[in-house]
Amino acid sequence: FQPREAGKVGLYTCGPTVYKDATIGNFRTYIFEDLLRRTLEFIGYEVTQVMNITDVDDKTIREAHSRDVPLSEITEPVIEHFFRDLALLKIERAEYYPHATEHIPEMIELVQRLHEGGYAYKKDGSVYFSVSSYPKYGKLSGMKLESLARGVRIDADEYEKEDFRDFALWKGWTEEDGEVGWDSPFGRGRPGWHIECSAMSRKYLGEEFDLHTGGVDNIFPHHENELAQSVAATGRKFVRYWMHSAHLMVEGEKMSKSLGNVYTIQDLLDKGYSMRAVRYVLLTTHYRQQLNFTDEAIKAAYHSIERLDTLVQAAESANGDGEVRSVLAEYIEIARKGFTDALLDDLGISEAMAALFNLVSSVHRLTNEIPLNRAEGSVILDFWKDVDRALGLLIAEDQDIPEDIYELILKRIEYRANRDFKMADKIRLDLENQGYQLEDLKGETVVIWHGGRKTITKSF
Ligand code: AMP
Ligand code: ZN
Repeated sequence: FQPREAGKVGLYTCGPTVYKDATIGNFRTYIFEDLLRRTLEFIGYEVTQVMNITDVDDKTIREAHSRDVPLSEITEPVIEHFFRDLALLKIERAEYYPHATEHIPEMIELVQRLHEGGYAYKKDGSVYFSVSSYPKYGKLSGMKLESLARGVRIDADEYEKEDFRDFALWKGWTEEDGEVGWDSPFGRGRPGWHIECSAMSRKYLGEEFDLHTGGVDNIFPHHENELAQSVAATGRKFVRYWMHSAHLMVEGEKMSKSLGNVYTIQDLLDKGYSMRAVRYVLLTTHYRQQLNFTDEAIKAAYHSIERLDTLVQAAESANGDGEVRSVLAEYIEIARKGFTDALLDDLGISEAMAALFNLVSSVHRLTNEIPLNRAEGSVILDFWKDVDRALGLLIAEDQDIPEDIYELILKRIEYRANRDFKMADKIRLDLENQGYQLEDLKGETVVIWHGGRKTITKSF
């Protein structure tokens, strides 16, 4: 891996389409991206990550139309849940979360450039990318283009490889769009999904950047189209490295409405799963391997976490003086090397975890006769905290709410009692940004966070 600029990484991660709550499938991809980001930081890179919020596209509009409400009424609550879920799963925040609806001028400019460059044409109020004007089209996803009929178009944002056509950069207004639409040199309309990512990545990361990721379903058509648009418009390489994660299955089957196995994070909270165990499951299958999300896997995760935690318990309860035994220092160095080398080899998470489990066993063996002394406990904890920068898994959150958070919750209850909902909402948002979600029930407030769930029954 060679970044464009020494020590820095620009990372674009395709984000959620906010028409309904993200599923654990989406979070499989977001956690792979979190591991990627954390690993880069762990080895010293300064990462600038962008994750777009697709708040206008076919799906969001369809949802708003079918429920007969403004677009924002669909997207806003979903965005709110999304950020809560990120916090619950301990996913590090990206530097930027640009919303598509706030970057329409940038998209229009890009479409104009493509049009002026001869890569796009207008038809019935829309603008299409002409696939035949771009000879490298299909290279990313490995397509053969001989069969392409010139000027055959597709309007949908999503379609199969066999259906590849000239795709929409700008979609002329139709009745289904309702109030959704922006004026442009091509007439009133809205952007196609693919141009959103081309425009927003360009704005925040420049015309060429290091890494672009998503789930495998994004390779075609989304990333193929992004690549074609961006290279055609700028003449630059666009992306140096692409990485795609394999999909998540539930109990061996594809998630689907009809099977009733489309889980959101809220569903898993309702099942009583610990978010640490969920993170464990989503994190520990290599990103290019299909992940099977099962009850068994969650149970196994609880065991694995318990085993890992025995090391922290041993280290924390260590007492007595003495020097760090050289054999222990050696074990730690072996673990550090094994862990780091594994992650640097295409995010080899299984080998990285194995290095940590080996350390746990070695330490237990070593301390069977002579327990850890304080110096040893502290060396182990330092190591554990250090590698946890890459994993976000090893250090258990407090099972209790920190004092300052508790105080804020009480304050909010008081504001609510005084019907000052503005201040109450302000505190709620503040808490959410810190990873604490509140649910107001009759006479009590339930707090949910990465470490657990607590009910506060206090009213004023
Ligand atoms: P979407 O909200 O559908 O645009 O998807 C957001 C991200 O989640 C994209 O990177 C998708 O590739 C990814 N994704 C969607 N479904 C799954 C799944 N079942 N497993 C893993 N990743 C997925
Ligand atoms: Zn995208």
